[in-house]
Amino acid sequence: MIRKTYLDNAATTQVRPEVIAEMAKVLAEDFGNASSSHSFGRHAKSVVEMARKSIAKQLNVSAQEIIFTSCGTEADNWILRSAVRDLGVKRIITGKMEHHAVLHAAEAIAAEFQIPLEFVRTLPSGNIDLEHLQELLRSGVPTLVSLMHVNNEIGTVLDLAAVGKLCRENHAYFHSDTVQSVGKCRFDLQQLPVDFIVASAHKFHGPKGIGFAYVRKGIVLQPMLFGGEQEKGLRAGTEAVHNIAGMAKALELAYEHLEDEENDITSLKHYAISQLQQHFPGAKVNGADTFYNIVNVCLPIAPEKTAMILFHLDMKGIAVSRGSACQSGSAKPSHVLAEILSDEDLKKPSIRISFSHYNTREDIDYLIDVLQSV
Ligand code: PMP
Repeated sequence: MIRKTYLDNAATTQVRPEVIAEMAKVLAEDFGNASSSHSFGRHAKSVVEMARKSIAKQLNVSAQEIIFTSCGTEADNWILRSAVRDLGVKRIITGKMEHHAVLHAAEAIAAEFQIPLEFVRTLPSGNIDLEHLQELLRSGVPTLVSLMHVNNEIGTVLDLAAVGKLCRENHAYFHSDTVQSVGKCRFDLQQLPVDFIVASAHKFHGPKGIGFAYVRKGIVLQPMLFGGEQEKGLRAGTEAVHNIAGMAKALELAYEHLEDEENDITSLKHYAISQLQQHFPGAKVNGADTFYNIVNVCLPIAPEKTAMILFHLDMKGIAVSRGSACQSGSAKPSHVLAEILSDEDLKKPSIRISFSHYNTREDIDYLIDVLQSV
């Protein structure tokens, strides 16, 4: 039997058993429509509101600042669109390495509302050039800055406090796509000068199809969907009560075990890097000072083998992600790596390995073995 090795936790994560149990219980027992006024509805409503309170407590915000959405993409799109449509934003500043949920949304919204879209420079390390951001902000145009916290492809980390401070000083709104970091590091949103963040449960061992937006108190966005009164009328549609409960449970567990799991995953990542460098002299980590659960590495393997590496790993039961151009010509190169790698390195195979607490050193050893046989 093939050994199944999941090392693609930035794409999605395995749901924790306790989360599955909680969701099954809610599906079986709390099936009422949360908008109904009878006891079935009231029970469902209380599950939704308890979940909201629990999530708010983890992030040190008030429950009314958390709006449930179907996913991170939806939350990103809503915030960008509503900021331009409803908050008087006349310019969006973002980065070239954003997830497409922000990048493509920003392009479409800027075109639709005929406002400029400006890009902050990326440093060779993969980090955002804060001096350039400061320069851009100086113009005084009402602006939304949208910059991600942890990059999903290479794991570079934005200094949220520093960017938030710059935005405050220049009266700009600040949105951060925190899909890769919520549940993986602590947030104190009372302290952090951020106006909007977004999260997606399937990235922190919760269910798919559910996420949330945090919208700072006092900022009034307009609905993304029109219909019923759910989510204060901002996001109409019958609540997925089981998903909401599962997300809250997943976040509670993520923060309960955070330090232990972070330590384990960090040492696993160090082990993986050292093994890769030992067995593939010349292997280079893409991006500097990256988040503890992601490593994107450029391998000194012949470019013509790039296309088949993932296929070969997959045949052996290993899941990682593509980090670079596919030589078959059918896939576009990663827009993230294209920002920071030389043309020569971009042709070499890069893979993204992303860990969770379910991984072991044996997983890494097996990955190295299989990579050596490519
Ligand atoms: N932003 C980032 C940084 C992501 O990694 C992802 C998921 N790949 C998303 C947004 C989209 O989240 P969702 O899958 O919940 O739509």
